[in-house]
Amino acid sequence: MEHTIQYNRTKIVATVGPASNTKDMLHKLAHAGVDVFRLNFSHGSHDVHAQVIKYIRENNEEQGHTIPILQDLQGPKIRIGKVENDGVEITPGQELVITTEDMLGTSQKVSTTYTSLCEDVGAGESILVDDGKIELKVLRVQGREVVTQVVFGGILKSRKGINLPDTAISAPSLTDKDEKDLEFGLANDVEWVALSFVRDADDIRDLKDRIRRAGKDTKVVAKIEKPEAIANMDEIISVTDGLMVARGDLGVEIPSEDVPMHQKTLVRKCNEAGVPVIIATQMMESMIENPRPTRAETNDVANAVMDGADALMLSAETAAGKFPLEVIRSMVRTIGSIEENFEDIYNKWHEPSPESELFANDNVVLTAARLSDRVNAKVLVGMTQSGYTGFRLSSHRPKAHIFVFTHNSRLRTQLNLLWGVRCMHYVGAESTNDTFKELEDILCQKGFLHQGDTFIKTASMPFHGQGRTNMLKITTVE
Ligand code: PGA
Ligand code: MN
Repeated sequence: MEHTIQYNRTKIVATVGPASNTKDMLHKLAHAGVDVFRLNFSHGSHDVHAQVIKYIRENNEEQGHTIPILQDLQGPKIRIGKVENDGVEITPGQELVITTEDMLGTSQKVSTTYTSLCEDVGAGESILVDDGKIELKVLRVQGREVVTQVVFGGILKSRKGINLPDTAISAPSLTDKDEKDLEFGLANDVEWVALSFVRDADDIRDLKDRIRRAGKDTKVVAKIEKPEAIANMDEIISVTDGLMVARGDLGVEIPSEDVPMHQKTLVRKCNEAGVPVIIATQMMESMIENPRPTRAETNDVANAVMDGADALMLSAETAAGKFPLEVIRSMVRTIGSIEENFEDIYNKWHEPSPESELFANDNVVLTAARLSDRVNAKVLVGMTQSGYTGFRLSSHRPKAHIFVFTHNSRLRTQLNLLWGVRCMHYVGAESTNDTFKELEDILCQKGFLHQGDTFIKTASMPFHGQGRTNMLKITTVE
């Protein structure tokens, strides 16, 4: 197998759907540069998802790839019910009734799947439908019906999403559907699970408890797409394993002009905390239909890389678009151009927190990263049992290529979401010197290291203990 040291540090998350769910297409996408596959549980049956999971695992095995699966739980997404002719026209100024009783919608009255709507909304609040394309104002609530006036009209289609930017939703973050989907995901050993419409840190704590009780080590991504989550971002970042700036719903729930600023703040805070952060939605939207992105899209991708994102996500572009492979290639080229030419993204040292129990170990990792810059090291090696060292090394954004070795074969795929991290399975010698020599040999054989290259290794002694990184060594390949 041919390996090359050229690759994107900033990772690509691609959503799988009808345009990409064959084994062959998944293989081609992986080859083109996908680092993580996302399965969107707002769509698709468990049978279809199970088939895709099987293909991804088989491809990983056959191709030597380490692509993890990110299961995305729908959360309390509110939708319009079915409407007649699959679309009805509503006009500004008219009244439109939303009922929680099941019915086929008309241009005067439509149903919603959200049964607590009447309890939650009040007069004067906005109801946004279909990404805010349609806007309604609540006039009054009567019985099981909400009477609204249409502000912006248009064609109202079946099953479109509803956002209630002014309303505190009473539904739990993990719905009955999510609980069943989570059970399925955990049974299938997904590496990451994302929760939609997170409101506070307790939503994440609850999800983590469920994962722990199921005896799994799945890591959690908090999707930031509610004003409450923006207000609680510090606490959410302190408990989550990863975070997604879910710009689709966020840009409807809060003014879309406020999203860019929150994107930058969230990325900075996640970087400082060593929490991987994904930028999502409409990154390459026009490529659903076209073989090339717009200039604005290329700029958006480039700026997300410059901000310091760990990963960029594609939704319909790869799930349902006409050019899934071109999207990945285009994104790879843009990421590559920034990573090659924009030095500011590297060497972001984050001072460890003195309050952390791992303050001393965190400092060893920081020192190793700094040293890699000073001596212009080619490779920076970490060893981990828990993944922790991978997260820490990545957070400092070293220019040296990060390789993480682990005995835990599951971490090999799980850590692939992290900026710059490539993970290898290693079960070998017990002594430091023998191990370090073996790692050097592995990296040389694979073509990642050559004679004369400087490389830095960090490790915890003893190797098979549960200890954190407590040593570092610098070597030049002979
Ligand atoms: P979704 O989440 O695609 O599941 O809605 C992402 C977003 O809202 O941006
Ligand atoms: Mn969303």
